[in-house]
Amino acid sequence: MSIVDTPERRQLRELTRAFVTREVLPHLADWERAGEVPRELHATAAKIGLLGIGFPESVGGSGGDLLDSILVTEEIIRSGGSSGLIAALFTHGIALPHMVAAAGGQSGGLLRGRLGGGQLRGDDDLIDRYVRPTLAGTMIGALAITEPDGGSDVAAIRTTARRDGDHYVVNGSKTYITSGVRADFVTTAVCTDFPGSGELSLLVIDKGTPGFTVGRRLEKLGWHCSDTAELSFVDVRVPVTNRIGEENTGFLAIMQHFAAERLSLATQAYATAQRCVELATRWCRDRATFGRPLASRQLIRHRLAEMHTRAEAARAYVHEVAARVAAGEPVVTEVAMAKNVAVAACDQVVDQALQLHGGFGYLRDAEVERHYRDARILGIGGGTTEIMNEIIAKGMGL
Ligand SMILES: Cc1cc2nc3c(=O)[nH]c(=O)nc-3n(C[C@H](O)[C@H](O)[C@H](O)COP(=O)(O)OP(=O)(O)OC[C@H]3O[C@@H](n4cnc5c(N)ncnc54)[C@H](O)[C@@H]3O)c2cc1C
Repeated sequence: MSIVDTPERRQLRELTRAFVTREVLPHLADWERAGEVPRELHATAAKIGLLGIGFPESVGGSGGDLLDSILVTEEIIRSGGSSGLIAALFTHGIALPHMVAAAGGQSGGLLRGRLGGGQLRGDDDLIDRYVRPTLAGTMIGALAITEPDGGSDVAAIRTTARRDGDHYVVNGSKTYITSGVRADFVTTAVCTDFPGSGELSLLVIDKGTPGFTVGRRLEKLGWHCSDTAELSFVDVRVPVTNRIGEENTGFLAIMQHFAAERLSLATQAYATAQRCVELATRWCRDRATFGRPLASRQLIRHRLAEMHTRAEAARAYVHEVAARVAAGEPVVTEVAMAKNVAVAACDQVVDQALQLHGGFGYLRDAEVERHYRDARILGIGGGTTEIMNEIIAKGMGL
């Protein structure tokens, strides 16, 4: 029995599948063309409890742990959704956890197995103003770490926040920010010392604050239904009360919550691979060449068998690492390995799945074409494959 296969989780899987079938599949192609998902989708997902999965009920979430979040992510893709849809609809999965943790709760089961919620402290205000409305689907948040000068080297962040009375004055820019076009607020990594010092803090910055401008909508290879933006900050005055946790604790907070993001991306990778195996298998059964179905040929059957094996091996390893994270084990190296294993499996499987579809695989009408494009970001976002290798090498004592 899989670790995510309990009676409650089977129900959650069914709920997710019904949501995707009813609310997503009829519209996904339109959202891909529009470059974003509608705000109402957030409210719909919140109403049935999907948006709040992995967040404690004490902050407006639906409860559940990291494994529940993984299950929802997996099922959205396996039901015909996409990693782009997850990026757009679940951006709060990266925008909110720092606020929840600073207020004494934990999200995603990252540091605890089950979510207890804990006692809320001084950051309660941020919970009421941002976390609850976002989990209710009435607000959209984004997380802004990456800057035009570089994303991998988080300590080198150059966006500054200078203290001026009970405000910070923020100057700098961010890029490639998921949901940045639609976001009502942005959890923003700023340098609270001299630029490049690595002394980081997290500030929640409201859209509409004077000096904060959302630049152009960035056009991308994949994730078309997920809006991506450049952000600019010129003398933006942000109340000190919008700081998450203590000053200069941002770097640690970012690193801690990267683990959940990386496991989510790893899940998106193996689930995309699984979906592509299903699509390719169906296609090879139906498609006949030289008088018989493709699937009747040993070469094709073996190729599908190898794709299936890769996807399943990746799924098993990601689940094992996720279970260890949920149990509170410090498995930073294993999380990096899980992301790389799943991304490598996904890259290979989507490529083969498209090839098996022949010319149709190259058309916009083919679901496999979308997965092929969407998959390419998974080895870049949330820390690149090379940065994961750096973490793994460090874990090996190199
Ligand atoms: C669609 C999309 C959505 C995104 N969403 C967000 C978001 O919501 N919020 C956010 O903050 N960021 C977001 N990002 C940014 C993403 O996290 C970064 O692109 C990523 O971390 C890499 O940073 P970079 O692009 O600056 O590449 P760089 O850091 O410039 O790296 C370039 C290349 O060099 C390699 N490299 C870098 N350093 C080393 C090294 N020491 N050794 C070996 N190789 C190295 C990298 O692996 C990469 O291949 C998004 C990006 C995209 C494309």
